[in-house]
Amino acid sequence: MAVAAGGRAETRDPAAGFDRLADRLDNHELAVSGEAQTQRVLAELRAMLPPGDARRELRYRYLYCVLGFGNDVRAGFDYAAQGLADARKAGDAYAEANFQLCRGQYHELATTSSDALADYDAGIAIAGKLGDARLLGDALSLRGGVESLLGEHAKALADFIEAQRLYEGAHRDAAAESNLLNIAIVYRRMGDYAKAHDFLRQARDSAVRRHDIRDQYFAALQLAFLYVEEERADAAVDSARAAVDLAQRLGERGSTGLARLGLAYALNAQRGYAQALAVLKQAEADFAAVSDRSEGDMLDLNYGIAYAGLGQYERAIKMLDAAEGKLRNTNNMRYREMLYATRASVYEAMHKPAAALADYKRAMTMRETMHRMGRTQYGTWMSYQFDSQRRELENRRLIAEAALKEQRVKALERVRNWQAATLLFATLLVALLVVFVWRQHRQSRRLRRMALTDALTGIANRRQIENTLHEHVAAARQNRRPLAVLTLDVDHFKRINDTWGHQIGDDVLCCIVHACQQALRKDDALGRIGGEEFMVVLPGTSPDAAAHVAERLRASVEALDLGDIARGLKATVSIGVADLLPDDDVEMLILRADAALYRAKREGRNRVEIDAGADDAAGSQAHAAAAPVALFGNGPR
Ligand code: GH3
Ligand code: MG
Ligand code: MG
Repeated sequence: MAVAAGGRAETRDPAAGFDRLADRLDNHELAVSGEAQTQRVLAELRAMLPPGDARRELRYRYLYCVLGFGNDVRAGFDYAAQGLADARKAGDAYAEANFQLCRGQYHELATTSSDALADYDAGIAIAGKLGDARLLGDALSLRGGVESLLGEHAKALADFIEAQRLYEGAHRDAAAESNLLNIAIVYRRMGDYAKAHDFLRQARDSAVRRHDIRDQYFAALQLAFLYVEEERADAAVDSARAAVDLAQRLGERGSTGLARLGLAYALNAQRGYAQALAVLKQAEADFAAVSDRSEGDMLDLNYGIAYAGLGQYERAIKMLDAAEGKLRNTNNMRYREMLYATRASVYEAMHKPAAALADYKRAMTMRETMHRMGRTQYGTWMSYQFDSQRRELENRRLIAEAALKEQRVKALERVRNWQAATLLFATLLVALLVVFVWRQHRQSRRLRRMALTDALTGIANRRQIENTLHEHVAAARQNRRPLAVLTLDVDHFKRINDTWGHQIGDDVLCCIVHACQQALRKDDALGRIGGEEFMVVLPGTSPDAAAHVAERLRASVEALDLGDIARGLKATVSIGVADLLPDDDVEMLILRADAALYRAKREGRNRVEIDAGADDAAGSQAHAAAAPVALFGNGPR
């Protein structure tokens, strides 16, 4: 199976084939089960090793170091030490780190945990420097295992979880999944059985999926230990038996021995002491076959418990004493507590109360220490978790804060855009408004002008000239200045219309206006008060002067050359003159001017008549001025 997995396609390029197979071994992707199979895979790897390739040779050697010695601790340890020296000599840091890890594993098997820790620390330092995630993950996972054994559960959990992160990050599924077992074991040792079950289940399911017998065996064995601690002895026995079967399928005596030791432990918990003894004997044979003495303490302890249970006190004491000597070098308090408690009960049964009491006290001390340490470890772990969760929360808070800021900036930008748009819009609106107001203003000015001007001639209309007259009258009163009003009427205008048409009539009116404007001063005001009737306001003008102005207007009109408009066309005007009298109101003044005009018409037209009322009021001087004016009349008599 493993040989096929190595791939025969690579036989043409041995170096590539070597790398491929070595990578798979490094990444725990190959489910290598049993010593025979392991040796076959290693032989295949060796065959692909290019001659003279020092780097690959060191790689082959560290893989051989890890896989090739089974439980032969002595040989493995020597091989690792030699590899380490050679890697250092060759300056191959990667191989050096791998040999450190390999040697650490043999230190562990020899139960020299602190030496193992030193090796793993060195491996971690190199892996960190190299930035090699695979190596670092493996090294952390190994160190976690030792820490877990030494009761440093919090540290162990931290290492395992960091390793898990690295494995998952590198998509090393097999490594990640077998690391779940490590996490489960730590939780068991910390007494968090629910979490331990959780991770064990995950690990076992994954191992079954991957057909990884070794991980399945390991999960079953750990489950057995978990059940013992939960005081579910029957389940523990079942699980341990499953572990033994799996170990036998692996074909590894060392693993079979471990599984049987676990089974004896479960049987002792179940009070199946006789069976436990039988299984322990098998386990002892297994360990002897691979010359593994690392489990001596556990064998002795379990023998002691079994003999004690069977009432064979002497034998029990002998075994427990032997176990005590071996366990004293380890920090495994759980087993020491078990030892002292068992031995105390044996001494009690042997009626040795003093010895029993001493052991009970020892057991209690162990238990208390364990409890305290467990609590401390759990507390340390909880605060570690708390810290990392707080860091996580802090990170999320920062992310959320950044998002909020971005959102605010965007909102602000939106507002700014709106403001800009609004400003632009407002500016446009104001511009439109200005244009509109200006046009309105112009329009209203035009309307006002239209309301106050005569459309045909462009001079003041009736309303305007009367306004002007009112203003001038008021001013004249205030300033005690003279003022005169003339009213003009075109003579026989009907005939002009009738003879030449209305259009020509209009033209004549315009010509007359033009002539009058030419003959008037700047301050004088001319307005059209009817069809062919006009009014002239002469501020500051004495009756005398007014009579002269009137005559000048009359003469100007008469002198008009209208031949351009129509052949033989002539026009004349009759004019009435009235001066402002002290008692006059505007109406009276106009009436008197009209009366004079009427007289001019009656007297034959084309002439000027001075208002008679002025004579009455202004006395003979005014009359004298008026009389000659009447004589100016040149109209047809
Ligand atoms: P008199 O000398 O007595 O004033 O005679 P007259 O024909 O001028 O007087 P009358 O009041 O009988 O006629 C005025 C005419 O003026 C009547 C009208 O058709 C005409 N008329 C009034 N307004 C206008 C105008 O704006 N244009 C023209 N072409 N004719 C007008
Ligand atoms: Mg008229
Ligand atoms: Mg007329």
